[in-house]
Amino acid sequence: MAIPVVVLDPELTAPAKQASQPQVFPAFASTSAPLRHVDGAFTDAAKIRELAQQVDVLTVEIEHVNVAALKEVADECATTGGRSGKGIKVYPSPSIIGIIQDKYLQKVHLAKRGVPVAPFLPITADSSAVSSDDPLASLVPSVLEAGEKFGYPLMLKSRHLAYDGKGNFVLRSSSPSDVRAALEALVPASSLSSPSARPLTDRLYAELFAPFVKEVAVMVARGASGETRAYPAVETIHRDSVCHIVYAPLRPPVDPKNGVGREQRGQNAVVGKSVNERAQEDAQKAIDALGEGAVGVFGVEMFLMADGSLLLNEIAPRPHNSGHYTIEACNVSQYVSHLYAILSLPLPPITFTPPAAAMLNLLGYSDSAKDDFLRPDGVVAKAVELGAAIHLYGKAGCRKGRKMGHITVLGASDADVRTKIAQLAAVLPGSYA
Ligand code: ATP
Ligand code: MG
Ligand code: MG
Repeated sequence: MAIPVVVLDPELTAPAKQASQPQVFPAFASTSAPLRHVDGAFTDAAKIRELAQQVDVLTVEIEHVNVAALKEVADECATTGGRSGKGIKVYPSPSIIGIIQDKYLQKVHLAKRGVPVAPFLPITADSSAVSSDDPLASLVPSVLEAGEKFGYPLMLKSRHLAYDGKGNFVLRSSSPSDVRAALEALVPASSLSSPSARPLTDRLYAELFAPFVKEVAVMVARGASGETRAYPAVETIHRDSVCHIVYAPLRPPVDPKNGVGREQRGQNAVVGKSVNERAQEDAQKAIDALGEGAVGVFGVEMFLMADGSLLLNEIAPRPHNSGHYTIEACNVSQYVSHLYAILSLPLPPITFTPPAAAMLNLLGYSDSAKDDFLRPDGVVAKAVELGAAIHLYGKAGCRKGRKMGHITVLGASDADVRTKIAQLAAVLPGSYA
C-alpha cells in the first residue's frame, strides 16, 4: 500500500526489518533524516520515543511492550509530535494493551462486561505462610483453594509475558510435589531475586480446565469510529499449548455416534445461528468491550464446549497466528485490515474466497530445522508440489518450538485441505504431526 513502515525490534535483522525498507520511499529518500528502523527492546522507553519521532501512527505486533512509555508518547505527541509535527496516534490504545498484557486483568475486564470466560481466580500470596528461604510456600494455600473450587486438572497461568503456552502449567493434583513443581515452573528462582521483580501476589492466576471440544479463533478488525469486521471463525489445533494447525472455516463438530455433523447450541444461543456466526458475534462483542481505543486487528481465542457454548480464552491485540491464512484465503489479509483500521480508512468487508483453507506452522524441532525445511525431501519441496503458499520468516536462530514460518493450503473442501496438511506434516519429524 506504499505506506512506509519503521520497525522497533531488538534484532538488527528482524524479519519485519527485512520486509520493509522505509528509506527507499521517494518521499523520504532525499530528506536529511531518512527513516530508519530502530534496534532496541520493546520495553526501552528511549527507543519507543525514537520510533515515535519518525511516525504518524504507532502500533504493536506484540503485547509485551512498555505501556507506560507508550502512554507518555501518546499524550506528549498527541497534537504536535511525530514525523509530521501534527501529532501521533497509538493504536490499540496503551491502556488496552495494558489490560491485555496482564491475563488476569484481561479476564476481570471481560467478565465484568458480560463476556463468557472459564471461571478463574487470582493466586495470591499468604503473608502468614511467608518464609524468607521459601517464598513460594506463600502461594500454596491460594493454589489449593483454587484446586478445591475448580478441581483437577487445574490450569495455572502466569499473568504476564506469556506466549505459546510458556506460562501455562496443568496442575494434575493437590499433592505437595505437584504443586511445588507447578510453582517452580511458573515462578523460577531467578525471577525472585531481581530488584524489579513483581510481587508474588501479582504473578499467577488459576482457571478451570475447560474440557473443550474444539479451539476456535476469530480475527476482528475494529476502526477508530467503532465499526468492526470479523473474519470467519477457524479451528485452531494446539499441541503443548502451541498453535500447530489452523483450519478455515470452522466446521461444526461431528457427532461421534453417527458421524453426522451437528450444530450444537449453548443455553443462551439464539435459534438459527450457526456456531460460526455466534463465534464471530461474540468476538466482535469482546473487542467492543475493550473500549474506544480498541483499533486495529485482534485475535480472539475461544473454546467451543460440548454444549455448544463458547468461552473466551484470550485476546491478542495484534495480527495473530490464527489469521495467517487470510493472506491467501481472503480478499484482504489481517495485515491489510490492520492498516486500514489504524490509518482510519473505511474497513473493507471481508470475503473468504476458497471453499477451504488450512495453515501449518513450521516450528523449529532442532537448531538445524530451518535448513531441514528446505531440503529436497523437506516440507518446502512438498509444499511446492501441493501448490501451497510458503512463508519463511528469516529469523536468525532456530530453536525447538520457535515459529520459523508457515505454509498455507487452499482446497476444494475441508477434507481436501486436511489431506494436504497431513501430507505436509508427514514430511516433518514424527513427533510433529
Ligand atoms: P498464545 O501464544 O496464544 O498467546 P498463551 O501462552 O498466552 O498463548 P493461552 O492462550 O492462555 O496461552 O493458552 C495456550 C493454550 O493452552 C490454549 O490455546 C489451550 O490449548 C490451552 N488452555 C489455555 N487455557 C486453558 C483452560 N482454561 N483449559 C484448557 N486448556 C487451556
Ligand atoms: Mg497469549
Ligand atoms: Mg493463546
